[in-house]
Amino acid sequence: MTDTPLAPAPIRAAKTPKVGIVSLGCPKALVDSERIITRLRAEGYQIAPDYAGADLVLVNTCGFLDSARDESLAAIGEAIEANGKVIVTGCLGAEPDVIQRAHPKVLAVTGPHQYEAVMDAVHTHLTPPHNPHLDLVPESGLRLTPRHYAYLKISEGCNNRCSFCIIPKLRGDLVSRPIHHVLTEAEKLVAAGVMELLVISQDTSAYGLDIRYKPETWRGAEYETRFLDLARGLGSLGVWTRMHYVYPYPHVDNIIPLMAEGLITPYLDIPFQHASAPVLKAMKRPGNQDKVLARIANWRRDVPDLAIRSTFIVGFPGETDQDFDILLDFIREAKIDRAGCFQYENVAHAESGKLDNHVPAELKEERWHRFMEAQAEVSAARAAAQVGKTLDVIIDEADDQTPGGWIGRSKADAPEVDAVVYVASKSALKSGDIVRARITGADDYDLYGDVA
Ligand code: SF4
Repeated sequence: MTDTPLAPAPIRAAKTPKVGIVSLGCPKALVDSERIITRLRAEGYQIAPDYAGADLVLVNTCGFLDSARDESLAAIGEAIEANGKVIVTGCLGAEPDVIQRAHPKVLAVTGPHQYEAVMDAVHTHLTPPHNPHLDLVPESGLRLTPRHYAYLKISEGCNNRCSFCIIPKLRGDLVSRPIHHVLTEAEKLVAAGVMELLVISQDTSAYGLDIRYKPETWRGAEYETRFLDLARGLGSLGVWTRMHYVYPYPHVDNIIPLMAEGLITPYLDIPFQHASAPVLKAMKRPGNQDKVLARIANWRRDVPDLAIRSTFIVGFPGETDQDFDILLDFIREAKIDRAGCFQYENVAHAESGKLDNHVPAELKEERWHRFMEAQAEVSAARAAAQVGKTLDVIIDEADDQTPGGWIGRSKADAPEVDAVVYVASKSALKSGDIVRARITGADDYDLYGDVA
């Protein structure tokens, strides 16, 4: 933790002290914010909904791309202007000098997942209340997501060293949570009404590698701390379970039978990043696309409804026209149903910045548009193929634009990032209901239907 040398005296709040939270970045950062909020509430602090009502503001930052760093610095500036008392945590907190140069008035800076340090900083600057009402905190913790889905973080850090990524520098090597802790947390979330678990980490398929897949006991049975046993345990809870950020190791094949049995949601989020062998080599990622295509074909043979989500980078240094064509062929042939695409950015301190043959900005832009067009065709073909089917849809919210309308998602869609299903229902629904919907129409991404 880095404090400013002349930190002001702690604020003595006459009423219950209130902390405002600004949470930026990915779902992993959101989970960190939830943990911090849970700790704050457990100690009796209140969470303020706006700057004006807060005694101090915590900004949980993202530092992955330069654009995210800029957004984080802007958010810190806004919080200082609106409130004046600001503590910064999260990925960008790993570079306190950057923050303090831009915003010398920041009270304290702590790095990613340093929960103790964040709480120390809060205690220093805002005295905790005397009688915390521990029982105000639900057993499942406090969450920033709606009641019916929850992110489940299984590990921190990453052992890979992708050349464009500074996450291992920011968050360190892989540290897995023991499997019985993860499964117990999942069980509590389900007991609290969660219908969909979203498993997240930096590298979900590496889960347990750092602790040699240590066996633990949960519900009287032995589970090793590894990806397959995690899937087995979560699959026994009877809710939708999505696997995010799965690195394409061969053992991922092992969870396909659990999807075929209906225990795990037929959805895999695998950030392939590219498909051309020379680009993957420069990225320091595994790269035998023929094998990957054969494996995906096998997965789809066994689980025909499988949806694959991925992320890609276009315009990586050295990417030729031929490499880019290989990438387009891959997303068409592998039928990557959902994809995020980023134009390569030089992230400060990333190794890839030193590579030769950087791609000009206009060419990156052109490739990005061509990628998005090709991917929209794959997505539209999948959407059109759903028309006439009856699908399970989890309801997220009422559709304000359409009386009797609801917005939900099929098993092929994760919240926030994927498509939605607009459904009409004669009876009232609520968030978290899972209904059977007849699909009557589709556009490039979204589906339309009626509750069956
Ligand atoms: S696997 Fe993900 S988090 Fe790990 S180094 Fe590669 S891009 Fe970064």
